[in-house]
Amino acid sequence: MTAPAPRRALPTVVYIAGEGHSGSTLLELLLGSQPGVVAAGELCMLAPDAPGRDRVFAKPCVCGAATRPTCPFWGEVDARLRDELGAGLLEIRVDDPDDARFAATNRALVAAIADASGAAVVVDSSKRSDRLARLLAIPDLDVVPVALFRDPRGVVWSHVRRERGWLYYAAAYAWGAMRLREVLAGRPAPFIRYERLARHPEATLDRILALLGRARVAGALDWTAHEHHALAGNRMQRERSARIRIDERWRTALPGWVRAAVAAMALPGRLAPTGLPGADALDRWLLARARERSVRMHAAKDAASPWVR
Ligand SMILES: [Zn+2]
Repeated sequence: MTAPAPRRALPTVVYIAGEGHSGSTLLELLLGSQPGVVAAGELCMLAPDAPGRDRVFAKPCVCGAATRPTCPFWGEVDARLRDELGAGLLEIRVDDPDDARFAATNRALVAAIADASGAAVVVDSSKRSDRLARLLAIPDLDVVPVALFRDPRGVVWSHVRRERGWLYYAAAYAWGAMRLREVLAGRPAPFIRYERLARHPEATLDRILALLGRARVAGALDWTAHEHHALAGNRMQRERSARIRIDERWRTALPGWVRAAVAAMALPGRLAPTGLPGADALDRWLLARARERSVRMHAAKDAASPWVR
């Protein structure tokens, strides 16, 4: 009988938390271009019923492979998961409601990603606070949360220009910020502003890398010089130039009264105390509503997409 191959230590997980449309693709591209760091993307997409999952897996990988399942990197992750759990990338449940199975699945997933890439740090840009809270509760997993915030008027503008109503997203921003503060209460997590990240990427990266005991490698800001495979993310991943353009069109595109209303609505998220009574029940209700909305939105997109049959 041969002894099983020794397992490497679990990687450190950098978790990018915050609202969508806050610059997480930029942050993960920058982090994933540092040696020893791999940007895995939105690992929450591996939940079997994650909205938009079919499209993510039908699209070409960032590395150029025709689909994620045919990408050599994700293929290697899939093989390692099958060895460890007896289930492949598209069969695991990263949101398993059972805490012990959640821990085992996510431990195996980040270990497989680290081993397939040779990295010691895995960046998960799922953003959701509920996933962050559950990862933080895994005792032997080192999770470094990074809270990414963009001006709420910029986040709302990103939705408005996609012809979505502003009110819902202003409320979602406020609530999301409050929940994130609650999950992070008492933890030394860096709060990163998108506007500062876009203007001073080196200084912002240095802050995060310092938490990992790493120093930035000069010249690694050019993410186009590195291979990436992150799940989900925006078109910035596929651009040929690594020029950072800060998007502040909301300043002129949103009417003044909407800018004022969004700023006022977001205020509780910036100042909120933690431990509000009834917050968990309200959060579950809001998450369920957000999920229905997201499923409807993705179903409409999928119907129009040439990638999904
Ligand atoms: Zn790939």
